[in-house]
Amino acid sequence: MTNTQPAPAPENSAQDLPTLKVAVLGAGTVGTEVLRLITEQGDDLAHRIGGRLEVIGVAVRDMARDRGPHVDPSLLTDDPSALVREADLVIELMGGIEPARSLILQAMEHGAAVVPANKALLAQDGATLYEAADRHGVDLSFEAAVAGAIPLVRPVRESLAGDRIDRVMGIVNGTTNYVLDAMARTGASFDDALATAQQLGYAEADPTADVEGHDAAAKAAILASLAFHSRVSLADVHCEGITSVSSQDIAAAERMGRTIKLLSIVERVPGQDGERISARVYPALISSEHPLASVSEAFNAVFIEADAAGSLMFYGQGAGGAPTASAVLGDVVSAARQRLRGGAGLRESHYAALEQIPLEQLRSAFYVSLRVQDRPGVLAEIAGTLSSHGISISTIHQQLIEEDEDGSASGQGSAHIGITTHRALESSMTAVLDVFSSTSTVLGVDSVLRIEGE
Ligand code: NAP
Repeated sequence: MTNTQPAPAPENSAQDLPTLKVAVLGAGTVGTEVLRLITEQGDDLAHRIGGRLEVIGVAVRDMARDRGPHVDPSLLTDDPSALVREADLVIELMGGIEPARSLILQAMEHGAAVVPANKALLAQDGATLYEAADRHGVDLSFEAAVAGAIPLVRPVRESLAGDRIDRVMGIVNGTTNYVLDAMARTGASFDDALATAQQLGYAEADPTADVEGHDAAAKAAILASLAFHSRVSLADVHCEGITSVSSQDIAAAERMGRTIKLLSIVERVPGQDGERISARVYPALISSEHPLASVSEAFNAVFIEADAAGSLMFYGQGAGGAPTASAVLGDVVSAARQRLRGGAGLRESHYAALEQIPLEQLRSAFYVSLRVQDRPGVLAEIAGTLSSHGISISTIHQQLIEEDEDGSASGQGSAHIGITTHRALESSMTAVLDVFSSTSTVLGVDSVLRIEGE
């Protein structure tokens, strides 16, 4: 029997496809991995896009440094401005505010689509970039700016565009998760756990942006803007880092069946004056049963609660050269396809323009650790102060009578008390802490942490 089916048409060679000129700004941790993927997967990418990516230049500061096998030295330039004027697509992986912002704006002015991984710039001045993208009709895609390899920007911006997102809560900074996880696993102090993270490459030599919560806050600003169709910048995000989390806090959390995680939380807050939004970052206690509690080492995980979709959880590597490059390339493929089709893809959506609710108007459950005089009536006094501010106690734990640093029992005697409260206004807790700071009963407030996810 003869085969009457026509033979399948031979696949077009990738070489026959149209070419897109790509400028890469930066050849550091992420840049070198992006260049590796473009080199190693060139033909596959070309078929997926319907066009070939031709890297026309790689901007760096130090032209002399060896960049490894995937960065062609002849493509290096220290004139990024000239480079972006020639490109159809600009991948911005240099970081920082300037000159990244000016170069992105210049690229858009010349009609290029831009793919930045720059969370700091997007969180600080995203509006300027969105407006320029709109004005010039070009794509601005930034999946890599939030949680590295984990698809989060696209699900929020596109997959859930037909739903109503109520809350996004997650661990979006791997460095701080590594440090808190190491403290819990080994009993190490914050300083020792941070030093280990630095030795293993999980923390930068200058860890400020991570441990002070700024990196997580930048991601919270980006997520809140996308989730709530409102402009939220870094300055709108309440931010507390993990530098004051102590081994005692970690041990107290464990005793309570909880664990401490640095959480980024963005949510809608309904109220009598209409709906407002909150974006905040702080270390919080969560139940050890909560799925976020088992997120270990430098991994990231994010929960999205949406009206119709319900709860969704995203988990994976939130940083690192290769995982971040994966997210960058995903954006590059879709921006390149769009470019070949003509026109741009998604625009910024900020029509809702929801206002921010000040932190002091939010309600949280708290854990408060106090050093108090060890004498009869102290617990009643503290409970009375809390109650007079509308805060009710959930649990109370009194620890051993403390000895002075020289080992002798102090004349007066002191004790540690750990209190958890039911949900109460932030402003009420602030007022209570003011009272505690002015009474002789309370010798010191060691820590105040919020309890989330219960
Ligand atoms: P990096 O290792 O410090 O690399 C930055 C690169 O940009 C270097 O090649 C540097 O050149 C170049 N550069 C910086 N300023 C420049 C300037 N003025 N002119 C020309 N070149 C300049 O940074 P990275 O870790 O790859 O991060 C890049 C971006 O990705 C940042 O926005 C970061 O927030 C974001 N990101 C990173 C990760 C991650 O895991 N690393 C994860 C998510 C997002 P030299 O090499 O000559 O100094």
